[in-house]
Amino acid sequence: MQRRGFLEGLAAAPAAAAAQQSAQQATAQTYADRTRGLPRLTIKEVYPIVTSPLGRYQWVIVKVITSEPGLYGIGSASNVHQALTVATAIEKHLAPFWVGREVDRIDDIWYATQYRSYRRSDTVLNNALSGLDMALWDIKGKRAGMPVYALLGGKVRDAVPCYGHADGRTPDEVADNVKKFLERGFRHVRAQMGGYGGGGMIAPGEGQRIQGGFAGPAFDEDKYIAAIPKLMEHIRVKLGPEVKLIHDVHEHLSPTLAVEFARRMEPYGMFFVEDILPPELVPWFRNIRQVTSTPMAMGEIFTNPQEWVPCITERLIDYARHRVSTIGGITAARKVAILCETFGVRTAFQEGGDNDPVNFAAACHVDLASTGFGIQEENRWPDLIHELLPGTPKLPGGYAYINEAPGLGIDIKEDMARKFPLTPPPGSEDGFTVRAIDGSLVRP
Ligand code: MG
Repeated sequence: MQRRGFLEGLAAAPAAAAAQQSAQQATAQTYADRTRGLPRLTIKEVYPIVTSPLGRYQWVIVKVITSEPGLYGIGSASNVHQALTVATAIEKHLAPFWVGREVDRIDDIWYATQYRSYRRSDTVLNNALSGLDMALWDIKGKRAGMPVYALLGGKVRDAVPCYGHADGRTPDEVADNVKKFLERGFRHVRAQMGGYGGGGMIAPGEGQRIQGGFAGPAFDEDKYIAAIPKLMEHIRVKLGPEVKLIHDVHEHLSPTLAVEFARRMEPYGMFFVEDILPPELVPWFRNIRQVTSTPMAMGEIFTNPQEWVPCITERLIDYARHRVSTIGGITAARKVAILCETFGVRTAFQEGGDNDPVNFAAACHVDLASTGFGIQEENRWPDLIHELLPGTPKLPGGYAYINEAPGLGIDIKEDMARKFPLTPPPGSEDGFTVRAIDGSLVRP
């Protein structure tokens, strides 16, 4: 056996020499050879476009200029609560780190950006990184002459089913507004009764108050978990079984009542109940699983894979609903979608009235190419925004349609954006303070 091995070794020697020579030749090849003729493309400049159109939005759009004249990409780094902090982080810390890097190496730049500050996955860093990440995918698509979804494997659905937001002051009004969405073509509708916590609010000054204490609108969780199942019953009686109903608890409940609420919602066949627990109480999903089949969705305030990975791999939730620009852009979102697909969980990427169309377009590209997709939260903008950001997705009939142009298919008119300078409006520093009747804080 040894002799045979020796002879085989002799025979193999010329082949090994040839392989070594060929490896040396490969090393000597130019970048253009290795990339089938594409010239080396680097990040030449990165800057935030900070804009507040209609005084209503507070957006940070990242623009990445490449070394190829005329080739650039855009991404969303919007964070309504910390817009100027994100813009400063990009200008002062991240742009100098990104300039000069090869635009093709998205995953490498993604991790390098997370590691550069040693501590990673914080909200501002993730927003800034998301802006860059989307812009790099935009550039890659433009360079390839393909929409981003094509680079992610191609469409697995023809357009993106979205859920609408219905609200109202009374069960009748909510049901009427749900019906309006159905008439427009939506199949999935989120039903709230007076915003987050609505149905559980005690009006200012009413109820047994502490003398000289908190007098504002107060959240009462017992009132809430009695009112919302009745609302769902009313909608079912009025509109029938077909509408796919969603409700957002927005983390207002204590864990035991969250379990009870989930159980009470079961008869109404919910599509999902959203954010029934806050991130710090995720283990309570196990208790919910023991008592009810009501589907659970969460993830919009997650910023770190350590938060969503156990939720998905332990199948504690049914829908992972991150905001794409909060977790690190398309690169992070497609990894979440693939993880969801593997574990039988689905995605329901989050939007919100504060969000910009670039983020929505990026989410739609991932949705279009994702087998792990469940539903997409809707977002719509007035005509002026479609003018400011040509290619903003449209939602006729409850489905989002993206512009099919290469890349993300969306652009921003910088001159127009500069006409809307961003100054945080008074009161915008506090979006989510909720209190109980004794003045104590309730989780928003
Ligand atoms: Mg929500």
